Amino acid sequence: MDVQAKLEILADAAKYDASCASSGTEQRDSRDGKGLGSTDPGMGICHSYAPDGRCISLLKILLTNACNYDCLYCINRASSNVPRARFTVSEAVRLTLDFYRRNYIEGLFLSSGIIRSPDYTMEQVVRVAQSLREDHHFRGYIHLKTIPDASDDLIAAAGKYADRLSINIEVPTETSLARLAPEKNVRAIRRTMGRLRLKLDETMDQSSGHRRAPPPRFAPAGQSTQMIIGADASNDRTILETSANLYGSYNLKRVYYSAFSPIPDASRALPPQAPPLVREHRLYQADWLMRFYGFDIGELTEPLEDGMLPLDIDPKLAWALRHRDRFPVDVNSASREQLLRVPGFGTRTVNSILAARRVTHLRAADLVRLHVPRKKALPFIVLADHRPAPAQLDSNRLLQMLRPRPAQLGFSF
Ligand code: SF4
Repeated sequence: MDVQAKLEILADAAKYDASCASSGTEQRDSRDGKGLGSTDPGMGICHSYAPDGRCISLLKILLTNACNYDCLYCINRASSNVPRARFTVSEAVRLTLDFYRRNYIEGLFLSSGIIRSPDYTMEQVVRVAQSLREDHHFRGYIHLKTIPDASDDLIAAAGKYADRLSINIEVPTETSLARLAPEKNVRAIRRTMGRLRLKLDETMDQSSGHRRAPPPRFAPAGQSTQMIIGADASNDRTILETSANLYGSYNLKRVYYSAFSPIPDASRALPPQAPPLVREHRLYQADWLMRFYGFDIGELTEPLEDGMLPLDIDPKLAWALRHRDRFPVDVNSASREQLLRVPGFGTRTVNSILAARRVTHLRAADLVRLHVPRKKALPFIVLADHRPAPAQLDSNRLLQMLRPRPAQLGFSF
């Protein structure tokens, strides 16, 4: 099979993994003449968005889509009737360099089905990154998927060459994992996450010390994971509890939520339909609110009997509508914590407000300059020239007024 045919299979097989946003890595450039690269769409290229909004293109491939395991939700499972392919290490390296030289990509996301053993598979993945860095002085971004229970030496080598490492938690609960991926073991996954955390912490401790020699490099963009949403019956509360536990225990940079997509010849243990994509979006919003806005899971999901976030409005607006007694908030005197809870106010907006009000009293017109959606924020805030009518905040119609209008999807012709 030629490399082009392999690429078709192995890029397609990799598209189900969402855990490849590239952010927070160290800065490198290629002005010394050894570097390459930038962006353009093409086969196997995914676009990831960093938190600052920067779009990064990665060549996203599997080293092989053959796999010993039979995870029911996975198109590459052992019992799946799909064509199989495998890149050699040198093919994967050459392909990455070719794409990079043509400015199609800024980096590589490399994962693999598990063949022979976790160590054998991990070693193959590491060899690609090693060759790119050491033989070809590749300065682009590298994200490697870590194989559960790979040896410490291989994990250390992966962290030496990769910017980010990830290992997928797969589904929100241990029971679901046992049912849907019987060969996988949540303890092995968590053990590997724990080892990654230890290495990351060690590197950070050494960097903050006053040593002459820099600490050994280890995955400067940290570790992340992916959770599939809607393949089991877990509600949003359970999903967010698992995420909070993962962030707390392993200091993850990100948990990626990937809406389950039905696969050909799927097991009856799986739902026949994908969950609404907006559910994935609401989970990302709730995840953000927990990490950067001071919300806890209970505030976002506890009053909801079924433990599901509303789909029609974002979780912060839903919380504000349930807690109208906490509003209106005076923008010119409220604390940072209070401002972060105002619908339509992001962290940057709040920073700008805190800076601006040292020298001025903010008025309604200033919201435009701060890019605040006025319709969403005004019922909840007091400004120098604005105070919402009490009747408006108490009105049953407020939800109706603030709920986004349903938008018609675009036609593809
Ligand atoms: S280990 Fe499971 S999820 Fe990973 S490639 Fe194999 S079957 Fe798919």
